[in-house]
Amino acid sequence: MSITTSVYKDCFIFLTTKHQKHLALDIPFKQILGAQIIEYNFDTDQLGTFSGEIARIGTPIEVARKKCEISIIDKSAKFAISSEGSFGPHPAMPFIPAGIEILYFIDVIRDFHLFETEIFTDTNYKMQEVENYEQLIQFANSVNFPSHALILQPCPRNSNGLIIKGLVSENELEYAFNTVYKLSNGNKVWVETDMRAHFNPTRMQTLKILGEKLAYRLTCLCPKCATPGWGKLKIEVGLPCNWCGNKTNEIKTEIYGCPKCCYKENLVPQHGKLYADPASCDFCNP
Ligand SMILES: [Zn+2]
Ligand SMILES: [Zn+2]
Repeated sequence: MSITTSVYKDCFIFLTTKHQKHLALDIPFKQILGAQIIEYNFDTDQLGTFSGEIARIGTPIEVARKKCEISIIDKSAKFAISSEGSFGPHPAMPFIPAGIEILYFIDVIRDFHLFETEIFTDTNYKMQEVENYEQLIQFANSVNFPSHALILQPCPRNSNGLIIKGLVSENELEYAFNTVYKLSNGNKVWVETDMRAHFNPTRMQTLKILGEKLAYRLTCLCPKCATPGWGKLKIEVGLPCNWCGNKTNEIKTEIYGCPKCCYKENLVPQHGKLYADPASCDFCNP
């Protein structure tokens, strides 16, 4: 779909953020939808921080929705977007760190909510205790410092109240280390990657990818009621084996749906196959 047929052409979409996320979302929303992102600079740290001094209340999806609602209330936004990320072990492969990003969108005029989410393994998310400056430099070198910022605080984490964020040069890092070291019990310093988008170019890039996904989805209209946001809701596995007919773990159906009228369609998956290769069958190829 071209921009000329986008229902959001020339619309203002308010983005509630403290962390300059418009840098990731401006281009996809402009190029794909012809819409303009307007940043609403609100202290979203009140809703929780990565470094743990303010606990997040609610699920990441609830927090993302709350951020959208803030610009709808404060700025009378007709269209609102927000993002929320969380980091930790990959849900399926716990030894790999991963980021789960959510982009949440509310269209007040058409009265629907829509979100896209994705798991990214491309992240520098890492944290540990260090005993001396040499160990800190080793850590820094392993997480793309100084293009990606660091956070230091006394050990144990969140015990002292002092947290130094956004460290992006070796001078800053050394000064912060000396300050924090003096306040640390047991002479250990806590270091972690700064996951705020404007201090983490890798995260900014993943937000751009998710922004493209959401913007593209908003060009897709429901075949029943023409509301934007038609897209894949879930997949069902169980494609039958070509030899024995038993169910395999390959995708059998993709279920598409509308965010407004709840109309759904079962579609043939992208691989286009009606039967699975016996190689992926537990009976034919145990
Ligand atoms: Zn089989
Ligand atoms: Zn619909």
